[in-house]
Amino acid sequence: MTKATVGGRSCVSCPSFLADNKQRDTMGGDISGPICGSKMLPLIMPTQPKDAKDRAFASIAGSCDSYGKQVSFSTMSVEYAPALSVGGDAESISAIPDLQQNARCGDCTHYVRSADVHEKTGWTASLCRAQGSLMLDNKLPYYARTCGQFKRHVGPKNPRMSLEKFVFLPTFSPTFGKIDLVAQYLKSFKGGFNPTDYQTDREVTARHTERGIRAWRRIADPEGYGADTYLPIYDPSSFPKELQLIVPKTGDDSHPEMYADHNGYL
Ligand code: SF4
Ligand code: SF4
Repeated sequence: MTKATVGGRSCVSCPSFLADNKQRDTMGGDISGPICGSKMLPLIMPTQPKDAKDRAFASIAGSCDSYGKQVSFSTMSVEYAPALSVGGDAESISAIPDLQQNARCGDCTHYVRSADVHEKTGWTASLCRAQGSLMLDNKLPYYARTCGQFKRHVGPKNPRMSLEKFVFLPTFSPTFGKIDLVAQYLKSFKGGFNPTDYQTDREVTARHTERGIRAWRRIADPEGYGADTYLPIYDPSSFPKELQLIVPKTGDDSHPEMYADHNGYL
């Protein structure tokens, strides 16, 4: 749930909160933005507006099972190269690995220089698009040694890969938390539908019925990129009695009729 404050919690008041100086003491480098030392996760992007940062701290801490836990951090080995996850890049993830023993981030097609990362985000760290992580500049050889995703850039030496098409985690958005998606959904909620009487959107064959499917729900891609998808709606009576008891039903305590699809597809 997205809220400006969640139970008064904030990562800032948590013992796991590591500001830059503490990052240098423990992991031998810093990214010019706080991280969670327990989860090794960057918490905000330095270029986010202050209100978005505060909402991110509150939102992350509000749902964190480690909030407030006492921890102590000792100095990590020089060769420890923490992967500081900030997002993902589908193109890089599917790239073909090259000879790992020759890996060097500077020669790799997944590598984004720290100067370019800093210009866009404020973090002082390089970024590996394949791993979706920030990397401490003084430890690049250690990341390259073990990443398993090195892909030598073909073409001019020292390519300059950009952050174009790299998808940062939603907490790093300038407007993070401004819109309460759950509240918005509930406001526009018009009662949903009951899967037990939903009319099918495509033919239900004998083979489907055999598998317990009583109807199909058509999901259209709002961007129109691909074909429609059909989700099966099962007949609860096709499951063994003991399983039927745990199937969520309209009106019961789990209120499946109020499930929110934040992408608005359903
Ligand atoms: S609240 Fe959770 S995510 Fe935030 S600093 Fe503490 S342990 Fe890390
Ligand atoms: S960590 Fe590996 S995949 Fe990422 S930039 Fe370095 S060599 Fe490439």
